[in-house]
Amino acid sequence: MSSTWHILGAGSLGSLWACRLARAGKAVRLILRDEQRLADYQATGTLTLVEGEQRSHYAIPAETARGAGPIHRLLVACKAYDAAPAVARLAPRLSAGAELVLLQNGLGSQDEVAEQAPHARCIFASSTEGAFRESDWQVRFAGQGFNWLGDPANPAPPPWFDDLQEAGIPAEWRLDILSRLWRKLALNCAINPLTVLHDCQNGGLLGHLPEVDALCAELTVLLQRCGQPGAAENLQEDVQRVILATAANYSSMYQDVRQRRRSEIHYLLGHALRTAARHGLVLPQLEHLHQRLVDNLTARGLPGT
Ligand code: NAP
Repeated sequence: MSSTWHILGAGSLGSLWACRLARAGKAVRLILRDEQRLADYQATGTLTLVEGEQRSHYAIPAETARGAGPIHRLLVACKAYDAAPAVARLAPRLSAGAELVLLQNGLGSQDEVAEQAPHARCIFASSTEGAFRESDWQVRFAGQGFNWLGDPANPAPPPWFDDLQEAGIPAEWRLDILSRLWRKLALNCAINPLTVLHDCQNGGLLGHLPEVDALCAELTVLLQRCGQPGAAENLQEDVQRVILATAANYSSMYQDVRQRRRSEIHYLLGHALRTAARHGLVLPQLEHLHQRLVDNLTARGLPGT
C-alpha cells in the first residue's frame, strides 16, 4: 500500500502538517479545491512554513480531486462544514481500507465524512496546535500544542503512527478520543460564543462568571446523559482555568467572526443541542445562548449554521 500522505486542504493546519511531513522526507501530495487554486499554487510552487524568524519552503506536489490514482491515506484538513463535501468528491479514489485522519474541531463532521467513505477507516484527531495563514501558501506556526488521535471503532494505532514523531508532530494515540473531543467541545461552548456576544478576549469572561457557570452546569448534565461522564468531570473548574490561562487570547470563533469567516457553530454548540434533543434534554441556557449567537451572526450577515 502506498505510503503517500494526501492532504485535503492546504489551509492553516493542512499546510502545517504537510510541511513537517515533507521536511521529514515523507511523500506528501496536496489536494486543492479546484483548477484555479491549483494554478495559483503552481505559480508559487512551494508552501512556506514560518516558525519564529525562520521560513522554510517545500515544493510539495499538488492536484485537485480529479487527479489520478488511488488514495490510501488522507489527512482531511478542511473546516468542519467543508469536510464531508470535499471527501465525497474524492470517494471514487479512496482505496478499500483507506485511512482518513480528521482534523476538524467539534463533533458531527466526523460522522458526515464516514457516510461519504463507508469503506475507509476514520481516525479522529483533536489538536491544540495553532497555525494561521499569513497569505496564500504561507502558514505561521503560532502555537505549540499537541495532537490526540484515536478511532472509536478500532483501538489499534495505524501502522504509520511513528511517521508523526519522525516529522516532529507531537501526537499520542488515545482510546478515549471521543471523550477528548466532547471535553474540547464543552470548553468551546462555555467560552467561545460568549466572547463573540460580549465582544471580548477570553479573559473578559471573568466579568461574566455566573453566565459561564450556568452553561457549565448544563453542559455537565449533557455530557453525563450522553455517555461521556469522564468529559464532564470538573468541567466548571477547567473552564475557569482555561479562561485564566488564555485571558489575553481571542477565541477561534471570535476570530472567525471578526474576519467575517463562517464559524463552526453547527459542529460545536449546534452539535451539543442536537445531542441534547436526541436524549430528550431541555437545556434553556444553552438554547438561549445559541439563539443569541445565531441572531448576532445573522445581524453581521454571517451564516448562523
Ligand atoms: P483553513 O485555514 O480555513 O483551511 C481550510 C482549507 O480547506 C482551505 O485551504 C480551503 O481551501 C480548504 N478546502 C475547503 N474545501 C476544500 C475542497 N473541497 N477541496 C480542497 N480543499 C478544500 O482552516 P484551519 O484553520 O486549517 O482549520 C481546519 C480545521 O482544523 C478546523 O475544523 C479547525 O477548527 C481545526 N483547527 C484549527 C486550528 C488552527 O490553529 N488553525 C487548531 C485546531 C483545530 P481554500 O484555501 O481554497 O479556501
